[in-house]
Amino acid sequence: MSKFWSPFVKDLVPYVPGEQPKLANLVKLNTNENPYGPSPLALAAMQAELNDNLRLYPDPNGERLKRAVADYYGVQPAQVFVGNGSDEVLAHAFHGLFQHDKPLLFPDVSYSFYPVYCGLYGIGHEAVALDEQFQIDVADYCRPNGGIIFPNPNAPTGCLLSLDAIERLLQANPDSVVLVDEAYIDFGGTSAIALVDRYTNLLVTQTLSKSRSLAGLRVGLAVGHPDLIEALERIKNSFNSYPLDRIAIAGAAAAFEDHAYFERCTQQVIVSREAVTSTMRALGFEVLPSAANFIFARHPQHDAAAIAAGLREQGVIVRHFKQPRISQFLRITIGAPEQNQALLDALQEII
Ligand SMILES: *Cc1c(COP(=O)(O)O)cnc(C)c1O
Repeated sequence: MSKFWSPFVKDLVPYVPGEQPKLANLVKLNTNENPYGPSPLALAAMQAELNDNLRLYPDPNGERLKRAVADYYGVQPAQVFVGNGSDEVLAHAFHGLFQHDKPLLFPDVSYSFYPVYCGLYGIGHEAVALDEQFQIDVADYCRPNGGIIFPNPNAPTGCLLSLDAIERLLQANPDSVVLVDEAYIDFGGTSAIALVDRYTNLLVTQTLSKSRSLAGLRVGLAVGHPDLIEALERIKNSFNSYPLDRIAIAGAAAAFEDHAYFERCTQQVIVSREAVTSTMRALGFEVLPSAANFIFARHPQHDAAAIAAGLREQGVIVRHFKQPRISQFLRITIGAPEQNQALLDALQEII
C-alpha cells in the first residue's frame, strides 16, 4: 500500500494463480496445463514468423486466426473474437456485457476469476449454490439477473452440463447474456458453439491454453452473435487494439488447423483421466465424474491439505482451495503417464 494508490486500487482483490515453481523435476499437476507439447505445425508456423516483419504491427483484427476458428466451428469470422488468453476475453465480456443493474449469476463453486472481474468492473453478483452432487440446476438461474456465466465443464469440479440444459437456460433468460466458459470442453463435452446461430444471447469462450497446449502463448477466443462480438471489439479497441502479436496469430491458427495432433493429445489425456480416476477410487477417494483434463477428489479419512502437503514432499504439486464446500477436495491435473504414475505412487504411500 502506498499514498500514491487510488482508492480503487486499494480495494481490489486480485486473482491468485496456481504456483509456477522454479524447481525443476517437480511433477506439476496444479494448473491444468497440457502434458503434451504444442502441435509441431504450430511451432513451425511460429518459427516462420520470426523474421524482419516483426518490425511491423500485427493485424489488429487477427483475421487469419478468426478464419481458422470460424472454419473449425462452421461459423462466420464476424461471430469470432480473439484475445490474449481467454482471461482477457472474459474481462472484455464482463466490461462490455455484464455491467448492468441486476446481479451477475455464477455457481458458488466455480472459476475464481469471476468475482475478481466483478470487483474490477464494479459488477454486483450472486453465487448460486451447486446441488449436493456439485451439479448446476438450471431452475436456480430462473431469477432476475444481468447475466449468467459458468465454466462447462465446471472448474474446479470437472462436471459437465448438457447442451439440453444449456438450451433451457438460454430460453429461460432471453434478456441476459449467458456466457459458457469452455476452457475444458475438448476433454469430453460438446461445444455450445453449435447453438450460437439459434440464441443471440449466447457467448461461448475458449482458450488455447489447455487442449491446444499453448498456455505460454496467451490466446483465447469467443464465439457468438456478431452484436455480442462487436461489444467485445469496442472494448478491445478502446483499450489495446493490437492484443495478439504476429507469433500468436500464426501459432494459434496453425494449432486449430492441426486436427490430427489435437485429437491424439486430447484422447490420450481422456484415457489417462479414466485410468487415474479408477485407481484413485480403488484407494478410497471419492472422485467427481470429470469431462476435463483434471479431476476433483476427496478422501473420507484423510485431510486434503495434509494430502497436498504429503504429495509436495514427494515432489508432486496439486491444487487445494481453502474455500467453503471444497476445502476437503484436491484438484489434480492429468499429466503424462509417468507423471500420473508418480502421483498414484505417492498417494499410495500417503493413504
Ligand atoms: C484456464 C481457464 C481460463 C483461462 O485461460 P487462459 O486462456 O489461459 O487465460 C478461463 N476459464 C477457466 C475456467 C479456466 O480454467
